[in-house]
Amino acid sequence: MNRKDETCIFCKIAGGEIPSETVYEDEDFRVILDLGPASRGHALILPKGHRKDLTELSEPMCGKAFFLAGRLGRAMMKELGCAGFNVVQNNGAAAGQTVFHFHIHVIPRYEGGPEMVSWKPGETDSAEQREIAERLSEGLLL
Ligand code: 5GP
Ligand code: ZN
Repeated sequence: MNRKDETCIFCKIAGGEIPSETVYEDEDFRVILDLGPASRGHALILPKGHRKDLTELSEPMCGKAFFLAGRLGRAMMKELGCAGFNVVQNNGAAAGQTVFHFHIHVIPRYEGGPEMVSWKPGETDSAEQREIAERLSEGLLL
């Protein structure tokens, strides 16, 4: 039985309580079209069980979700004629997450289309980079 949050709109969409334009469905996931698409065909991969973000997803679910993103991207290139696609996944309000039920954005990118996911490369300091790498490495062991 999938975990549910009664107040969560994506739980209702993933469970079929609220209708959505569904591209794909299996026992664990529903793939829908985004209501405010960044480009034509922008899709969202939703687990049926409530998980607030990536930190709550199991390894097999991560594998399934990312594999699905690749299949979806391939279908977008074949069927919609995009030249590539972005896989975007926001965790936390500071990172742009607005719906707190894990989802992966798969966004078709068309030749000559607008720039969507980019950043200006910053500077690095080697001592600071070393310290960051060590801290993250320790954090991964916890
Ligand atoms: P986030 O900013 O949390 O990464 O992305 C949330 C996404 O969900 C946005 O792209 C937004 O357009 C989409 N969205 C929000 N509410 C609904 C809805 O009720 N139905 C659908 N299909 N998409 C939604
Ligand atoms: Zn939910």
